[in-house]
Amino acid sequence: MIEVKDNRIYFYNTNKRDIIPVDFQCVSAYLCPHCKKVLAAYYAGKVVDLEPFMEDPAMKYHYTPGTSNGGQYLLLDNHNHKKGCPGWEIVSLFARGIKYSIGVWARRYEVRPENLQKLCEMIAASKVSGFEIVQDTCGADDPIVLYNEHLFTNINKPWFGQSIARKENLAAYVDWIVAGDYSKPFEPPIKPKTEPPIDTPKDELPSLVDIEAETGDQSTKSVFGDIIDVYTRAQAIDDGVLVDVTETAKEAGIVYPTAVTQALWNGYIEPPESLKGFQDMQGRLWDVLTMFSFSARAMKKSNIDVAESQKDTAQTLYFKTIFQMPSKAGNPKMETVDLKAVCGPGDNAEPILTIMLLEED
Ligand SMILES: [Zn+2]
Repeated sequence: MIEVKDNRIYFYNTNKRDIIPVDFQCVSAYLCPHCKKVLAAYYAGKVVDLEPFMEDPAMKYHYTPGTSNGGQYLLLDNHNHKKGCPGWEIVSLFARGIKYSIGVWARRYEVRPENLQKLCEMIAASKVSGFEIVQDTCGADDPIVLYNEHLFTNINKPWFGQSIARKENLAAYVDWIVAGDYSKPFEPPIKPKTEPPIDTPKDELPSLVDIEAETGDQSTKSVFGDIIDVYTRAQAIDDGVLVDVTETAKEAGIVYPTAVTQALWNGYIEPPESLKGFQDMQGRLWDVLTMFSFSARAMKKSNIDVAESQKDTAQTLYFKTIFQMPSKAGNPKMETVDLKAVCGPGDNAEPILTIMLLEED
């Protein structure tokens, strides 16, 4: 059991009398208002092996321990799973305070900036369900914000993988909340589908599908044919030069086999050492894939006519993704990274997608 009381953190096991409890001075700690578990704590003292103190030994795997600035921290990273509180997650441990936390949240969900101040005021006054403010029990630091998407909005969730639609609906939902007229129910602008279509309709596909068809096999082959003969994509994935992300890409609505380069993977998708425990690889990959998907759809919406002269460049789509990265000052910063997606034939001439850094070939 881990408990924080009167600015001290206690490690003990109620089931095992022979395990001697330990306690240290706690600098800051955030407790979940629902399950009362320690969500995050920063304390002075040695790194504690959590195992003896866990009544449920599986719980120790839910905590990430670490050392920072001479102190120790603990982070409950599986709070959102079945052993914790379903749906509740910390908006940002780094951006503390309501304003900064909600700023991070709003960027993630494309909420209009002009709504932010009112939204923050309403959250501070506990008027928005799905948001909870958690004070530092030690009183040293600014509060953090917990968010539960399922409670925040009564919009029906679009089917799994339609995160773009969900983001647009969320932004509209914030408009509705801030406007404050609750006499009319919220109408999601994007109507959810009742179930995933068995065959994704053609207009749901990223535009690269159509561009591929328009440019035809010939031009793609002439550009990529030589490389593929020498070094197959399967080999590249085996060699670790490319990382296959097809399964996650499918969830983001991308129908082609998809891989990312090692440079993009190691440089950005794999969280930097100092952010591990706060950021996960799956979330960062998801950001890349949804930003690609979003750009591909936007490109298609603008009805780009692939002219004769553009055929070679049409197989590359440029887009940006924002990653949280460590800065020299210690606080994480948001870095906008230019990426490109190249669509070309795979080992068996099937269309495949490779996402890479701008400067890569
Ligand atoms: Zn909880």
